[in-house]
Amino acid sequence: MHFAALAYVGESVAHPDLYYRTNVAGTLVVLEAMRAHNIKKIVASSTCATYGCPDQMPISEAATQIPVNPYGRSKLMAEHMMRDACGAFGLGVIALRYFNAAGADPEGAIGEEHDPETHLIPLLLQSALGLRSGIDIFGEDYETCDGTCVRDYVHVADLASAHVSALTRCEAGVFKVYNLGAGRGASVAEVVAAVRAVTGRVVPIRSAARRPGDPAMLIADPSKATEALGWKPLRSELPTMIEDAWAWMTKYRSSAGFRPFPPAF
Ligand code: UDP
Repeated sequence: MHFAALAYVGESVAHPDLYYRTNVAGTLVVLEAMRAHNIKKIVASSTCATYGCPDQMPISEAATQIPVNPYGRSKLMAEHMMRDACGAFGLGVIALRYFNAAGADPEGAIGEEHDPETHLIPLLLQSALGLRSGIDIFGEDYETCDGTCVRDYVHVADLASAHVSALTRCEAGVFKVYNLGAGRGASVAEVVAAVRAVTGRVVPIRSAARRPGDPAMLIADPSKATEALGWKPLRSELPTMIEDAWAWMTKYRSSAGFRPFPPAF
């Protein structure tokens, strides 16, 4: 399973070279090493960012892929390389296009901790804990239900179960690709409300400009994964994902003697 990549949209716009080196050249190195060692199957992380801003929602795997930021372009190039290796060398590939990974291990052992943190749900939870003074809302003038961006958040434990199914379904010389999303969208404003409801804490927000490279809306059609992988997301309701992430974060923060983050504003 190939997970190694950089995955921040904003950072990819500022530092595209890092993204092409890590995500494209890095995947090439993985494929060359696999060939040298006669490894015939790969399950690899891809992303909804390869679609760009598709006209149709929800997004099926057949949608046109015209990514709108270097992150998406780098991951699409990685898909192309794996597809070509499939045709040329008989590699069996399953590429999994994740939508917005969220939540934490329900047993509390593993959670999400980036440095710097840029993802919406952990930033909101850190604010709820008082580790940040609040968060910026990047754009309230999108053509969506409430003007904020809509994403399809999917629990990390559900993503993990799809990988387990995929491992036994790689076929030599066949490139398969599946969307992994819950099949429903939540706006940034809805996520803020859900975090406030789950934590019962104050979470200050501030209006800010759009973040370069952000599509307005990304919602998966996960039916292909449901059918072919027998996949069923079990924990991808928004409150459940936030509860799991909050449980991990409160446990981790209280046990790790944590340093506060610098204020977001
Ligand atoms: N977002 C936001 N403020 C933040 C971080 C994220 O408004 O401080 C928005 C972002 O513009 C996007 C959504 O929240 O529409 C999810 O962003 P995230 O970085 O979590 O995931 P991405 O969609 O970039 O993979």
